[in-house]
Amino acid sequence: MADKPQKKPKVYLVGAGPGRADLITVRGAELLKIADCVIYDRLINPALLELAPSQAEIIAVPKRIGPAGFTQEEINKLIVDKARTGKTIVRLKGGDPCVFGRAGEEAAAIAEAGLDFEIVPGVTAGTAAAAYTGIIPTHRKYSSQLLFVTGRQAADKQPDIDWHRLATFEGTIVLYMGVGSLELIVAELIKNGMSPEMPAAAIADATLPTQKMVKSPLKALHQECRKQQIKPPAVIIIGPAAAADDRLNWFMKLPLFAKNIVLTRHHGGNLRFAEKIIACGGNAVEFPVITVKPLTQTNAFLRIVGRLGEFDWVMFTSPTAITLFFDLLKHLQKDARVFGRAKIAAIGSETAAELSQVGLRADFVPSVYTSRELGRQLADSVVLAGKKILLLRSKLAGGELAEILTKAGALVETAAVYTVEKQTCRSKPLQEKIAAGLIHYVTFASSSSVTAFFDQVSADVLNSSSAKVAAIGPVTAEKLTSLAVKVDITAKRYTIDGLLEAIITAEQ
Ligand code: SAH
Repeated sequence: MADKPQKKPKVYLVGAGPGRADLITVRGAELLKIADCVIYDRLINPALLELAPSQAEIIAVPKRIGPAGFTQEEINKLIVDKARTGKTIVRLKGGDPCVFGRAGEEAAAIAEAGLDFEIVPGVTAGTAAAAYTGIIPTHRKYSSQLLFVTGRQAADKQPDIDWHRLATFEGTIVLYMGVGSLELIVAELIKNGMSPEMPAAAIADATLPTQKMVKSPLKALHQECRKQQIKPPAVIIIGPAAAADDRLNWFMKLPLFAKNIVLTRHHGGNLRFAEKIIACGGNAVEFPVITVKPLTQTNAFLRIVGRLGEFDWVMFTSPTAITLFFDLLKHLQKDARVFGRAKIAAIGSETAAELSQVGLRADFVPSVYTSRELGRQLADSVVLAGKKILLLRSKLAGGELAEILTKAGALVETAAVYTVEKQTCRSKPLQEKIAAGLIHYVTFASSSSVTAFFDQVSADVLNSSSAKVAAIGPVTAEKLTSLAVKVDITAKRYTIDGLLEAIITAEQ
């Protein structure tokens, strides 16, 4: 969709949206994917930076608040200097670049330098806060006017704000950057004629699992915000619409809202799990204690690919094996026809789903998603005597599946598609959070994650905390128990969806 500039370098001023990463526009995401250089603000979701190519230059330009940070002039100069090198620059800004986002100054500096630019709008914090609390600023019952105001001028005590006009405005006022000077703003509005009983609300961290909302009559808003520790970034909504129906606050009612859930899979697996947690309102805390190392480039493996057509069955016991196997096929300029007449078995629904992503339907999926059941149920349903079976799996997988199949008379070969290695993470901050009661769940999706996690984190710290331990299935739960870890939840379906379901059930 997005195209590389042909002649002149181009700068894209892109709105990142209000917080939640997937609230960026499609256009914005496409441009990030082709950026050579991303220059970003403090408020953007760091997950968005992962969309940029791995070789892209990523530059943080936090606005100067104290002595650290960049002035607007420095940012303008940086953008222009980078653009002059002929690179595709994405200037990523929180919310919408045109709403209190300095797009005007930056675009003018770019134009002044004779360079091209495009502005990509984003979801601004004010409307995002409205959507994620159900305070509808233009609800027909309350208001047909909507005003976006910055509180920064109030803080500067500049005479820009016409308090009388604001206090008598008949509609909804959405105030940005107002937390620091809230006391002054409230006092001025009331002094200039607004009812002290006017409904008001403050929403911090809108659209994120850390979202907080305070609703109060205007006169008490400041005290309430202080009591409930509302900190920037927050928007303040003032007007009759702020008395919204609490039933419309769908987001804060999601089953895992505000729950901090630790994910211990490899990074790719964590990302997929995180998306599901975020959709349920939860906060995914990534702690990737393992990494996946492909073994597909070895001669032994390449020979196996050449012989695939000899097998009666090929078995995949993880989605990762499929992804890596098909990456290799692509690299070899081959496709699924390498399987020839071989039938394909998948250990569970997620592995089967990954197969269907590459256009293949699994010929066999057991009803219980473990290696043991895969072997047993296949042996029960087809004749395996004399059949040639290939297991494409992790190097660390146990021997039980091959044993069961061999017992049933099959000739079994195994090829390791990948191995899993331990990765060291910063465990001190996590242990402190666990000990302080700030983590609600620690999840484990494999035995290798369990081993790698407890090499770094003390089982005692976890056992004596309020955090619950959730295992994807009985094998992982057994591994936890063997390390003296108390297991609170074991999923009934041994998939990431099953694990999520078990956590949601525990919350109810
Ligand atoms: N261009 C941005 C606004 C930048 S000014 C936009 O369109 O949203 C910074 C102010 O935006 C903050 O002081 C706060 O008032 C608001 N803001 C940004 N992100 C927010 C969030 N997630 N929740 C609440 N307010 C937010």
